[in-house]
Amino acid sequence: MVLIVQKYGGSSVADAASIKRVAKRIAAARRAGDEVVVVVSAMGDTTDELIELARQVTPLPPSREMDILLTAGERISMSLLAMAIANLGVAAHSFTGQQAGVITDTVHGKARIIDVTPGRIREALDSGAVAIVAGFQGVTQYTNDVTTLGRGGSDTTAVALAAALDADVCEIYTDVDGVFTADPRIVPTARRIDRITYEEMMEMAASGAKVLGLRCVEYARRYGVPVHVRSSFSGREGTLVTDELEEEDIVEEPIISGVAHDRSEAKITVVGVPDVPGKAARIFEVVATSGVNIDMIVQNVSAAATGLTDISFTLPATDGQVATAALTAAQPEIGYASMQYDDTIGKLSLIGAGMRSHPGVSAKLFSALSRAGINIEMISTSEIRISVVTSADHLDDAVRAVHSAFDLDSSEGEAVVYGGTGR
Ligand code: ADP
Ligand code: ASP
Ligand code: MG
Repeated sequence: MVLIVQKYGGSSVADAASIKRVAKRIAAARRAGDEVVVVVSAMGDTTDELIELARQVTPLPPSREMDILLTAGERISMSLLAMAIANLGVAAHSFTGQQAGVITDTVHGKARIIDVTPGRIREALDSGAVAIVAGFQGVTQYTNDVTTLGRGGSDTTAVALAAALDADVCEIYTDVDGVFTADPRIVPTARRIDRITYEEMMEMAASGAKVLGLRCVEYARRYGVPVHVRSSFSGREGTLVTDELEEEDIVEEPIISGVAHDRSEAKITVVGVPDVPGKAARIFEVVATSGVNIDMIVQNVSAAATGLTDISFTLPATDGQVATAALTAAQPEIGYASMQYDDTIGKLSLIGAGMRSHPGVSAKLFSALSRAGINIEMISTSEIRISVVTSADHLDDAVRAVHSAFDLDSSEGEAVVYGGTGR
């Protein structure tokens, strides 16, 4: 018997009609004889709405309470989905993250899964039922506090359960037909990717292609879980995320696998930093101690006359307040002149394992941007990625220009967006 883990994102269960539609798919899989575990996200934009509601109550909600609030979204969808499946004559039991045995560390808001003990899920399957699990949530090991795994975390729940149950495949159902060469909401001519390696998918996810969460892909790679991304609105083939490609695929391996974009970062510039050893270290120590992860860093050439330099870096915009407060408190000690904060930036990343062996990729990227009249504010690279920061207003145009410059456009019209608000 085959064991499948299926995950349905928020846009696939946005209202009662969608829940009934998804229930039919699940019941059909069960009737075909497979063991089925379903991970479900909160309905539509429920998570955003709950965050908004909390902000109306207090500017800085305590993270423990925030986690309890947000997990309510997935409890609503899991129970409704179980009812809809039962109504079709197929047994279905729903479980919270805690009941499903998802054990995490204690970092509220972005907890990491440290163990999965799916005894109750196994029992439900053995009894012939479909098990429905609330995504994006777990419980701490010793204190039994409810945690959430960070935005998009239901993808990670699905892969973690697939690994713990030794499932044959983990299917991620969403509102597009798989992983594309760019976000279909921005590039209607984007091309569906048949197969992609964990490595490239990790760079895409880390660079903002939210079709799969980064931790989900990391987890899948570590445990060798094949991930199949497809649409819950169509019967199309989708994208398989696996290990190294087969011999025959490598021959045709493209240099570039895709263009990702990210609007969720902000930029801090620390102006007039004394250009002496130890100052940059202090700035980044202060930021790190406040629990903020930074992404790109640029230090300008120091002006010889003044002995001062400027240091810019990017960070998640949601951490902007915390980081600027920490740096302001440390201003007398570090001795910088002023600080600028800009959350109207966008990041574009070009990803492809073929970059390793093909010179000229950066030159082509920069000339595509310059032809489109787009100014580059920052640059960073990895072995298989080049990222640039532009102004937020220019990001969509930049993505389209780069996508065309690298001949990624398709005329197949596959890049259909079936649902969701893109929020
Ligand atoms: P779900 O609610 O199913 O979890 P998400 O909104 O988290 O869905 O992820 C799906 C969305 O990811 C798509 O609607 C699309 O706009 C976006 N996306 C960004 N980059 C890509 C890409 N390269 N390929 C496919 N979708 C992408
Ligand atoms: N509901 C959560 C979110 O919106 C988790 C998820 O959908 O994966 O981020
Ligand atoms: Mg998602």
